[in-house]
Amino acid sequence: MPLIICKEFDMAVTIGINMELDFTKVPTPAYVVDERLLKKNLEILKSVIDQTGCKILLAQKAFSMFSVYPLISKYLNGTTASSLFEAKLGHEEMEGEVHIYSPAYMEEEIDEIISICDHIVFNSKNQWEKYLDKVKQSGRHVECGLRINPEYSEIETDMYNPCFENSRLGITLEQLKEINLQGIDGLHFHTMCEQNSDVLERTLKVVEERFGSYLHDMKWINFGGGHHITREDYDLETLIRCIKHIKDTYNVEVYLEPGEAVALNTGFLVTKVLDIVESKMNLAIVDTSAACHMPDVLEMPYRPNIIGSGKANEYPYTYRLGAPTCLSGDVIGDYSFKEPLKEGDRLVFCDMAIYTMVKNNTFNGMNLPSIVLYSEDEGMKVIRKFGYEDFKMRLS
Ligand SMILES: *Cc1c(COP(=O)(O)O)cnc(C)c1O
Repeated sequence: MPLIICKEFDMAVTIGINMELDFTKVPTPAYVVDERLLKKNLEILKSVIDQTGCKILLAQKAFSMFSVYPLISKYLNGTTASSLFEAKLGHEEMEGEVHIYSPAYMEEEIDEIISICDHIVFNSKNQWEKYLDKVKQSGRHVECGLRINPEYSEIETDMYNPCFENSRLGITLEQLKEINLQGIDGLHFHTMCEQNSDVLERTLKVVEERFGSYLHDMKWINFGGGHHITREDYDLETLIRCIKHIKDTYNVEVYLEPGEAVALNTGFLVTKVLDIVESKMNLAIVDTSAACHMPDVLEMPYRPNIIGSGKANEYPYTYRLGAPTCLSGDVIGDYSFKEPLKEGDRLVFCDMAIYTMVKNNTFNGMNLPSIVLYSEDEGMKVIRKFGYEDFKMRLS
């Protein structure tokens, strides 16, 4: 079939598993994560750990489906967080190290952060000096780091580029020179987004040129996230070479904290057609919303694939898919199908595990999609369903 096939299906072929998931078995809308595909990604990440001795953490910002944390902890070294809540989730649900970075910590949260985190990364001289004594006095072994801004990034959109002019993320070399580094164990940089290891190699060159003299005195360096390690065209050799080079040159531990790469192409969003409206262009209303359930479709923006669909006009029946919300722009995209769509049909969006569940909301009173795990042992298992209470709970 010359249809757009999801990466999930390509991966299934590669690893020789049968992808005949029965999507009619799940309530809609629902996020379905396939444990077999997740394991495949985790094996790739583990192979990098095994070949280099680096440590890899799950960046929960991208994927916080904690029911699979016990599985993830068999492969990875822990979690990283952008906030107290994420840190608590990692601490409670996954074995291993708990790391945190935030542009600025809140005074009322810092004690709890210090009580559960193994690494705390600070974003400014001021923040480091403000909390340094608290960390020292905690009696816990907490390693402190600084996020540097290497002022080098190959990300083209400012929205995702931490090195754009006047970025608040990270300390420049100029600023670092003014900081007393007594008590600092490591440096952290995060300047990549969905990129391959050639970008890492060029970035590291800049990091070494600018910050190399500091690295010799550090215990570790954290390469941040944005490494698309589990994508099929990712160059693992270069990544491994980069990690080994830094470890050997500076005698430091290397951490990576990918989010996307952990759950890339491992999940779906299953939705149902609610209505078809024939107009100048045929419209289909589905029971999911870009604004509520896959906000990156509008923010990035991007067009997610649907199993068995093509681009507009590639197949005889083209529809513009929209949500049942009142937002005019809550349109997922234009898709074509071999057969006409009808009420009740199920459509399955691909690559819906990352930056979806963690970003969803109940705007317009939309219910949140159920969370479903497919595993070889248990088949399709609904882990969580949401309802009116989840909507009401956040309001008053
Ligand atoms: C977002 C983020 C990550 C994870 O990024 P991915 O693109 O999902 O791999 C890791 N570290 C930091 C500091 C981040 O902000």
